[in-house]
Amino acid sequence: MGNIKIGLEVHSQLTNLNSKLFCSCPTDYRGKEANSYICTVCMGIPGTLPVLNKKAVEDAILIALSLNSKISDKMYFFRKNYFYPDMPKNFQISQYDKAGGITLATGGYVSIPNKKVRIRRIQIEEDPARITYEGTIYKSKSSLVDYNRAGIALLEIVTEPDMESPKEARIFLQKLSSILEHLDVCHSYLEGSMRCDANISMEGGKRVEIKNISSFKEVERALNFEMTRQRNLLIKGISTKMETRHWDEIRRVTISLRIKEEEEEYRYFPEPDLVPTIITKEWVETIKDKMPELPDAHKERLIKKYELSPQNADVLVNYKLLGDFFEKCAEIYYKPGAISNWLVGDLLGYLHEKGIQLQEMKISPVHITKMLKMVDNGIISGKIAKTVLEEMIISGKMPEIIVKEKGLIRIHSDELIEQLTNKVFEENKEAVNDALEDEKAMHYLIGQVMKLTKGRADPELTNKVVRDKLIEHKKLLEKKN
Ligand SMILES: [Zn+2]
Repeated sequence: MGNIKIGLEVHSQLTNLNSKLFCSCPTDYRGKEANSYICTVCMGIPGTLPVLNKKAVEDAILIALSLNSKISDKMYFFRKNYFYPDMPKNFQISQYDKAGGITLATGGYVSIPNKKVRIRRIQIEEDPARITYEGTIYKSKSSLVDYNRAGIALLEIVTEPDMESPKEARIFLQKLSSILEHLDVCHSYLEGSMRCDANISMEGGKRVEIKNISSFKEVERALNFEMTRQRNLLIKGISTKMETRHWDEIRRVTISLRIKEEEEEYRYFPEPDLVPTIITKEWVETIKDKMPELPDAHKERLIKKYELSPQNADVLVNYKLLGDFFEKCAEIYYKPGAISNWLVGDLLGYLHEKGIQLQEMKISPVHITKMLKMVDNGIISGKIAKTVLEEMIISGKMPEIIVKEKGLIRIHSDELIEQLTNKVFEENKEAVNDALEDEKAMHYLIGQVMKLTKGRADPELTNKVVRDKLIEHKKLLEKKN
């Protein structure tokens, strides 16, 4: 594959806060009327002053600790000056690691299979506004600005270029997101709460930066596209330029935004309206005491306590909500193996297929455990349970109600199965004769009976009835001859 170096800049909102980073505007802006969550501070009206949100700093410290980073004992905010309508002040309050600037934390790493991806630095900044376009950014005749997002607390996590394939970048992001989910400080399922810039260089060539990728799947796609594009240039003997490109999600291509031979000039200088933040060892210690269980320990515990397969444990850790859901189910009905298989396999598969988020599904652990008990007690088959599960996710109805309404209860009646078997024998005389010699033909007959009951016939009973009938049939034939 050649020598590929990928580094990421992850922007993660601190979503467990009640107010923005420097003012008291609320943070649940999603789906709200545009420009309704704003005040004089986040709109940058002259004369107003920012006040730092203490909880935001604490959440950021918790994240930095979980990434094994070194917390600075003093940090500064800097103004990043640029001219763009997503910041009403024409600057963003951010942090800077040059010109005497000190960010929240430096160093650290995230473990992924076979490697540690090193963290370069972690900084706190305010989120810019959201700009929306009609259609694509290139063809739109106008753009609209919504300042509700402006001033939301944002954490920037910058990695070293330690990833060597687009897939590895995705695995890193998945792990990072799982860590944040475990800390309960950033909920990546919220639209736009985790965004990413990626830089990639190949064969020691110039670094290309891809801006504003909205999801992990898109990061892998964008990097794959960029890898192919750069490789094709290399084959033609053209060297890549140092540039910034935009990922067009709809057309799935990267497009050049600007060629840059030097770092962009943001005229950084210390924010004069904020004093340096002192982070004492004692403060860090009290935050450290709140450190919850992190993904690696969580996985180990699931495997040990419930004897889960590492694969299932992995999925339950990656989807923390599902992991919590699993443990609640196991508390009610201790069948951890079966429960984890249902959740990781059928349930998650169905949610992905329908594009439903975990927190949107209408079922509780009781739904799952009741359904499993019905399978274990032979009231419904595993196959029917799958139908019941899907219906539960959509409607939130209890399994016994669905089974009743849809007439899905397993048929245990000998009489009924015998009747149906007679019918099948009548209609498939050739197969009946074959079935005396041939197992396949016999299974075909059993299948036909099951089909008549839409899968509800008790399979063992059906099996027995068909076999008995065949023996009878054989005896009858022998008598005739
Ligand atoms: Zn505000």
